[in-house]
Amino acid sequence: MSDFVGAVDQGTTSTRFMIFDHEGTEIGKYQLEHRQILPRAGWVEHDPAELWAKTGAAIQTTLRLAGLTDRDLAALGLTNQRETTVVWNRRTGRPYYNAIVWQDTRTDRIAAALERDGRGEVIRRKTGLRPEAYFSGGKIQWILENVPGVREAAERGEAVFGNTDTWILWNLTGGADGGVHVTDVTNASRTMLMDLETLDWDDELLSFFGVPRPMLPRIRPSSDPAGYGATVADGPLGGEVPINGILGDQQAATVGQVCFAPGEAKNTYGTGNFMLLNTGTDLVRSGSGLLTTVAYRFGEQPPVFALEGSIAVTGSAVQWLRDQLHLISSAPQSEALARQVSDSGGVYFVPAFSGLFAPYWRGDARGAIVGLSRFHTDAHLARATLEAICYQSRDVVEAMQADSGVVLDELKVDGGVTANDLCMQLQADILGVPVSRPVVAETTALGAAYAAGLAVGFWRDVEELRAHWAEDRRWEPTWSEERREEGYAGWKKAVTRTFDWATT
Ligand code: ADP
Repeated sequence: MSDFVGAVDQGTTSTRFMIFDHEGTEIGKYQLEHRQILPRAGWVEHDPAELWAKTGAAIQTTLRLAGLTDRDLAALGLTNQRETTVVWNRRTGRPYYNAIVWQDTRTDRIAAALERDGRGEVIRRKTGLRPEAYFSGGKIQWILENVPGVREAAERGEAVFGNTDTWILWNLTGGADGGVHVTDVTNASRTMLMDLETLDWDDELLSFFGVPRPMLPRIRPSSDPAGYGATVADGPLGGEVPINGILGDQQAATVGQVCFAPGEAKNTYGTGNFMLLNTGTDLVRSGSGLLTTVAYRFGEQPPVFALEGSIAVTGSAVQWLRDQLHLISSAPQSEALARQVSDSGGVYFVPAFSGLFAPYWRGDARGAIVGLSRFHTDAHLARATLEAICYQSRDVVEAMQADSGVVLDELKVDGGVTANDLCMQLQADILGVPVSRPVVAETTALGAAYAAGLAVGFWRDVEELRAHWAEDRRWEPTWSEERREEGYAGWKKAVTRTFDWATT
C-alpha cells in the first residue's frame, strides 16, 4: 500500500491540500486563499469555479513540493466549510450562482417565516437544528426563487445542489464527464433537509423549502470502504486515487482531535468558532441553544452524534480589524497590538456581524463596541477582540455543561487563531480551565485523512489514531475567580446591547 493519505480542506478563507503519513505526521501542505465576495451588507459569496481552481492548484503544488505523485496516496479525504451552498448544471458543470456562504444572512426572512408558523418546531425535532439563515435549506430556496431557469432544471435533475464537499468531489471525479454526486452524513445534517433519525432526505423538510429531490446528492457514511469514486487521471492528481472520507470541517476536527468517546470535546478557532461535544450514539437535544448534529459515521456502524456550539464571528473579527479598520496589517499582529495594554480597560466588542449564533440565536443582533472613553486606544480594541473570541467560547461551554452535565476539565483547541498565544492565555483565564493544543494544529485536514485512511485499512482502528495525539502547548488559568466572574458579567451585559438592531 502507498505510504500516505491526502486530504483536501476546502475552508471558508482558503483551500489547502495536506499529506499525512502513518503516524499522522504532516508530510506536505499548501494553501491558497480565495476571494470573499461581499455584494451587500450581510451577503457573503464565493466563486465556485475559483474554489475548484484553487483546490487543483493546492493539490498540484503540495505534491510537487513534497516530491510525491498520485501513486504515493493510498486514499483521499475531503473536508469543507459546511452549509455553503452551490447549485450547478450537471451537464455543463457551470454554477447557476455564486456559492452562498454559511455566514450570509440574506435568507433571514425565510428562516423567520419558518419560525412563525410552526414549521420551526418540525425542523428542530427532525434535524436538531434551528430555522436559521446559517443552514443550506433557505440558501437553496433563495437560488431556486431568484435565478431564472433553475427550478425547472432542478426538477429535471439537471441543476444539482451540493455543499463544497460535493462540488469538489464531483469535479475531482470527472465533472460533467461522470462526476459523482454524493455527500456525507455530517454535511447533510447541516442542510435542514435531513432527518437525524433516518439519515435520509425528508419529504416534509424538502417541501418547506420547495427543494426538488432530484437535485440532492446521495448521502453516504463519512468513512466509506466502498468509496465514493476515484479521482480522474486528467485531473489535478494526475491519476486515480480512491476517495473514501468526507466530513464537514467541524466534524473533521472532532475526528482529528480523536474525540471518539462520549464526553470528549474540541473547540476550533477559525473564521468562526465551533465547539463539538461527542454524545455517542445518543441524540441529545439541547435546552441551552446548542445544535444536535452528526459527528461522524464510519462505514455501516451506527452514527455518532454531537452537541455543537457554533459562533459565527471569531477569527473574522481579527480580519475585520485588518481589512476594514486597518488597525493591523496581518492577523498575527493583533497579538502584539493587544499586548501593548494589560487589559481591555472595560471595553467589550461583541462582533455580532451576522447576528449572534449559539447560544443566543439572535438574527436581529448587530455588532457593538461598548465601554469606550477618550482614554481607549487601538490596543484596547485589539485586546477586546481577542477577549470576545474567548467570551463567546465561554458562553458555549456554559451551555454545553448545562445540556450534558459534562464538566470540562480542559479544552482541546485547534484552528488558525490558536497560533495567538495571548488569545489562548485569555481563553484559559476566561474559562478557568487549561487549554491544550495538539502538535498537528491542522486537525480538520487530519480528520478527513483519518476518515479516508480508516476506510481503506491504512489505519486499523480509532485506538491507533488516539496514539497519534500529542500535546504541543498548554495554557493554565492565571486570573482570580473574582476577575474572571467580573469580566464575564461585563460581557453578558455587553451582549444584551446588540439585540434588536436588525429586523428580520
Ligand atoms: P478557516 O478554516 O475558517 O478558513 P483558519 O483555521 O485557517 O480558518 O483560521 C483563519 C482565521 O484565523 C482568520 O480569520 C484569521 O483572522 C485568524 N488568525 C490567523 N492567525 C491569527 C493570529 N495569530 N491571531 C489571531 N487570529 C488569527
